[in-house]
Amino acid sequence: MKLPPLLVLLAFASSAVPAATPASTLPAPPPAAPPAAPDSAEDRRARELVARPAFQAAVRAYDRDFERFVRELILLTEIPAPPFKEQARGEAFARLLREAGLTDITTDAEGNVIGRRPGRPGGTAPLLAVAAHLDTVFPEDTDVRVKRSGTRLIAPGVGDDTRGLALLLAIVRALGAAGIETPGELLFIGNVGEEGPGDLRGMRYLFQRGPWQGRIPRFISIDGSNNDLITNGALGSLRYRVTFKGPGGHSWGAFGQVNPAFALAGAISALGKVVVPRQPKVSYNVGLVSGGTSVNSIPFEVAMEVDLRSVSPEELRKVDARFKEIIAAAVAEENTARATTFGRVTAEVKLIGDRPSGTTSPDTPELRQAAAVMRAFDKVAVWNISSTDSNLPISLGIPAFTISSQSARRGGRSHSLDEWTDVEQPTAVQDFALALALILGVAELP
Ligand SMILES: [Zn+2]
Repeated sequence: MKLPPLLVLLAFASSAVPAATPASTLPAPPPAAPPAAPDSAEDRRARELVARPAFQAAVRAYDRDFERFVRELILLTEIPAPPFKEQARGEAFARLLREAGLTDITTDAEGNVIGRRPGRPGGTAPLLAVAAHLDTVFPEDTDVRVKRSGTRLIAPGVGDDTRGLALLLAIVRALGAAGIETPGELLFIGNVGEEGPGDLRGMRYLFQRGPWQGRIPRFISIDGSNNDLITNGALGSLRYRVTFKGPGGHSWGAFGQVNPAFALAGAISALGKVVVPRQPKVSYNVGLVSGGTSVNSIPFEVAMEVDLRSVSPEELRKVDARFKEIIAAAVAEENTARATTFGRVTAEVKLIGDRPSGTTSPDTPELRQAAAVMRAFDKVAVWNISSTDSNLPISLGIPAFTISSQSARRGGRSHSLDEWTDVEQPTAVQDFALALALILGVAELP
């Protein structure tokens, strides 16, 4: 999951602002009425689910087996899994899925590990896929040994998203221990390619190319470290590497000839002046600038990497079009401003990242049920926008969202070498119960 998460709106939270009345004239406040227990069909289903003996047995199984969860979390964290090099961790995850009780486990051509858990005989509910990502942002030689400090585990990737993987394994085991049969099939997936350079390649293959294409009608990703949030907004992004080239030359001798550095600077300066909407939010960034050979040479090549984002596909298209106009104009301007005796300045715009955007509506049955499950846990669902594996199915119109493996402030420093996650047992058990209820709540929808 990309950080920081962007809170967008508080669902169901009343935001009445008291009128500015002088204190002396205020009438005595009426006694606060106790809030009525929500009584929608979704709320009744959520309460029934959580109260069910089999559900409670599953939570107790996790509690009993807690040390195994911690052990597996450490084991997986200590297997490096940089982007495009998730294979070793994928193999370990597949083995652990088998030990957790699944028998039908495959690794697809992209590297996603997929474990099938059949639904109850005669059950007709649609399939639900639940995924956590195998990859981390850390290069292969990073020290990924886990350090313990009290109830904290500290290591690169331990929270994002290795805790999600360990949680999937624990869920499979607990479902088995409690004998829970779902009305439809469940897929448990450890997928590749969530982080930056991976560019959602695991999800792209799963939903658009591989054998499961067209067969996953609903999807939950487990990622991130705050289970007050439900990420239903897919923050889309387009990322480019733009390379400006020219004939180069001596800074003195060839003075007056075109210089790609000026074209690059003109493009950056123009991009910086683009005014974008705040709602829906749009952002742009020049994150990396490189090139040239020496201080006394006109460079023959300079480059920049640019990131454009929005939750709105429409706004993302607009800022993208403007960005490309700016590049073309900056090149034209430089070719007009200086001599092109030895060649012209050109720009090559290469797409290096493309994450689609969109939103799963809070009115879909899946999210209505998820919000009701949150209420059954005395939580108010906070709808969130972020870039996660759910982006891909959301962009295809498949009801999808991302939940978290743990409570707020129980993990942190994601994408840093001192990343940590807390494994204090009572809180972890609560977090497990919530995640399990969210998954079963959706899995049981007809
Ligand atoms: Zn993540």
